[in-house]
Amino acid sequence: MTPEIPSPSPALPGAPAPDAPERRDFIRDIVAADVAAGRIPAPVTRFPPEPNGYLHIGHAKSIALNFGVAAEFGGRCNLRFDDTNPVKEEQAYIDAIEHDIRWLGYDWGARTLHASDYFDQLYAWAVHLVESGLAYVDDQSADQIRETRGTLTEPGTNSPFRDRSVEENRELFERMRAGEFPNGARVLRARIDMAAPNINLRDPVLYRIVHARHPRTGDAWSIYPTYDFAHGQSDAIEGVTHSLCTLEFEVHRPLYDWLIEHLPVPSRPRQIEFARLNLTYTVLSKRVLLRLVSEGHVRGWDDPRMPTISGLRRRGFPAEGIRDFAGMVGVAKTDSVIEYGLLEYAVRTVLNRTAQRRFGVLDPVRIVIENYPEGQVESLDVGNNPEDPTAGTRPVEFGRELWIEREDFAEDPPPKFFRLAPGREVRLRNAYFVTCTSVVKDQAGRVVELRCTYDPATRGGDAPDGRRPKATLHWVSAAHAVPAEVRLYDQLFSRPDPGAEGDLFADLNPDSETIVRNAMLEPSLADLPGGETVQFERLGYFTPDPDSAPGALVFNRTLTLKDTWAKVQAKGAVGA
Ligand code: ATP
Ligand code: MG
Repeated sequence: MTPEIPSPSPALPGAPAPDAPERRDFIRDIVAADVAAGRIPAPVTRFPPEPNGYLHIGHAKSIALNFGVAAEFGGRCNLRFDDTNPVKEEQAYIDAIEHDIRWLGYDWGARTLHASDYFDQLYAWAVHLVESGLAYVDDQSADQIRETRGTLTEPGTNSPFRDRSVEENRELFERMRAGEFPNGARVLRARIDMAAPNINLRDPVLYRIVHARHPRTGDAWSIYPTYDFAHGQSDAIEGVTHSLCTLEFEVHRPLYDWLIEHLPVPSRPRQIEFARLNLTYTVLSKRVLLRLVSEGHVRGWDDPRMPTISGLRRRGFPAEGIRDFAGMVGVAKTDSVIEYGLLEYAVRTVLNRTAQRRFGVLDPVRIVIENYPEGQVESLDVGNNPEDPTAGTRPVEFGRELWIEREDFAEDPPPKFFRLAPGREVRLRNAYFVTCTSVVKDQAGRVVELRCTYDPATRGGDAPDGRRPKATLHWVSAAHAVPAEVRLYDQLFSRPDPGAEGDLFADLNPDSETIVRNAMLEPSLADLPGGETVQFERLGYFTPDPDSAPGALVFNRTLTLKDTWAKVQAKGAVGA
């Protein structure tokens, strides 16, 4: 096996089980057939991001596919930055992309490659096309080129510069390279067919003049290849056998094939297109995500509401859950929209198994246990994860004054409300049974304290006489609790198909973030390492946010325990 097998970083939950069912899809079938027929010893794939933004969950699908296929068939997968547009690309994006892929659990060895590594070769091949009479320098402006390209029903018209001599083309192209002309003054175009039914074949642009500093090549170039010219040739240089890309590139394939056909490339990649991932309630487009960031709709690329890998990580989604999601979504040839709930399901399944349980109270109200000795503290042994016997236990302090959740009390309980109420007994999880004896209110009539008694015979949460309260509440010792800010998240957009009926930004959910400023948490949570997600019992999954400072904890809610969004939506619809 090769090093590309998804391997979890040590802090993260395990890799796919070794007995996981073998994945099958039309791409894996093609690769399997190529290997079986001896056409290739093993596949070479690549993940080719353009470093003009952060990776999102759609990229995770492509990453899982490219690295997965390579690993499963004993091949390799390169990371190649398609860095052909210095105006929009930045080193910070390159670094973030590498970090995200590694965090997802994939390894490309030393094969961090760049289209810019091949600029000399690509230039030489462009010259080769010029010398073969298959490329020419066009002095028309970008607008003129667009206007003369024709439409789906009408052919384009030839450029007046299309029939320049090889000599003149070579000289002008060299001068373009030498930086003699301003941006946009000229381009190099392939000389194919202005009447081709496929518009991509109507003399596509291969090189543009761009006087811009490139993150890797600096000021060495003042012309840059287009994505269309660089992509296929880069694949060929790397010996990529299966160039997996999304469906929008299907119409570009004839151009890629034409270029491969007419250039002395060392190998012939086969391009196979698959459907991009679309998810409800969000948008998977770097262009839109960049606007969300630059216009201040979110805190940054890694905002926990963003569908970026870094946002999902900050939100507390484990890499394993994202990989599992990619497997569940599968690979198909037709576009579809996946329910956001499927991603949550994949993540919840992992977290239910792996997340340690803790106590936290989001909206605290104090209870005082009148018959519990003043100043006494007990250390109770509380299980860390009922789903995982190896997770062990931890000590949790219990005392006379505790915080419980305000909504777990009702002075005048409605039918079916089984939690705490005057005269009623409930179980405090892993601790004792308590009964509310009286309610203390402030001048405004707001409940500020609940007076209770406890039954010392119920230590650990069971009564010797077998009586069973109908409710079990979570709690935190008031003397030991640490305060925290907790950020609760909801969908970033308020409709499943943002922008479907107009301005995308008008569909932003105004309630996508709710900040709870005065939560009370069990003290062990003050030391929870970043990147670890725990379950606050009865409330959901939570993870420390990097905004945390000593004495000023911030937690993000990763997910609720169950999907409340669908319910809220249903209610909204009924109420409307
Ligand atoms: P965006 O549309 O978000 O700007 P992109 O396609 O321009 O994405 P690239 O950096 O060019 O971003 O993408 C790198 C690889 O990831 C490409 O092979 C692309 O096809 C794939 N990819 C991008 N978005 C998705 C998606 N939503 N689902 C699956 N694969 C995707
Ligand atoms: Mg792209």
